[in-house]
Amino acid sequence: MRLILLGPPGAGKGTQAQRLVQKYGIVQLSTGEMLRAAVAAQTPVGLQAKDIMASGALVPDEIVIGIISDRLDQPDMKNGFILDGFPRTVPQAVALDELLKKKHIKLDAVIELRVNESALLNRVETRVAEMQARGEDVRIDDTPEVLSKRLANYRAQTEPLIHYYSERRKLLTVDGMMTIEHVTREINRILTAIGAVEPRAARSAAPARKAAAATRKTAMPAGKMAAKTARKAAKSAPKGRKTASKGVGKASKKAASPAKGRGAGKARKTAKQTARKTTAKASKKVTKKRAKR
Ligand code: AMP
Repeated sequence: MRLILLGPPGAGKGTQAQRLVQKYGIVQLSTGEMLRAAVAAQTPVGLQAKDIMASGALVPDEIVIGIISDRLDQPDMKNGFILDGFPRTVPQAVALDELLKKKHIKLDAVIELRVNESALLNRVETRVAEMQARGEDVRIDDTPEVLSKRLANYRAQTEPLIHYYSERRKLLTVDGMMTIEHVTREINRILTAIGAVEPRAARSAAPARKAAAATRKTAMPAGKMAAKTARKAAKSAPKGRKTASKGVGKASKKAASPAKGRGAGKARKTAKQTARKTTAKASKKVTKKRAKR
């Protein structure tokens, strides 16, 4: 699975990326984290980036593109990755497309966490308070002044990526104002609908009660189930942004098409197996009853 998480600072990209890492065993590539590590290690890149980051501005494109290009060549990328905080400008997105093409890597989706800007300041303040309570170092750019600069940069330089990826039918939008748990669920649902993960993998971390409900679902005719999943994914996409629901619409079609949808194919197989088992059980019961009589 290869994903990009898009959203302003404080939208919850890091939190959701961590959850995806734990669930699917893929790697999180956070350019912010990599740059902070470079600053701490005082590498040449770190020395170049330090003041820029402290001011809330963006580090030059060629630096971050170079970091990502090197990282994509490493063996742990095989299982997949989540890009968090990259790309942040259109030239970075263009460079990423070229890199992926050259390395024969296909991007599954770009997930936009859409949030209400006025809530972001509160979120960042809470994050800072929590870090302080845990005795952790607070990021130098997590102050209200620097945050407003980072937000302005997001609007001017990163927001155009929403159009960029929706034009390429890669964009899927999730309401980032829901609880962390809800956002995670929505992301998993969307990933299942587009066939980026198998339905079983998406459910694996759910409580037992849910797993039982899901098992019942697999007994449903495959076409019906795929259509239901797709409908749910389509419903969950916020309606405001036309382009985003277009992306989901395409994903839904894919999931709902038994011939094309990877997830649907699997679901059909599972449904057939379940049906076969149920039939076998039923005929055993009938035989037993007849024997008794
Ligand atoms: P983040 O942790 O993603 O909020 O990033 C922290 C800071 O690192 C940003 O404010 C930028 O200064 C820098 N940075 C991270 N990712 C990028 C990127 N893709 N392009 C330019 N600068 C970046």
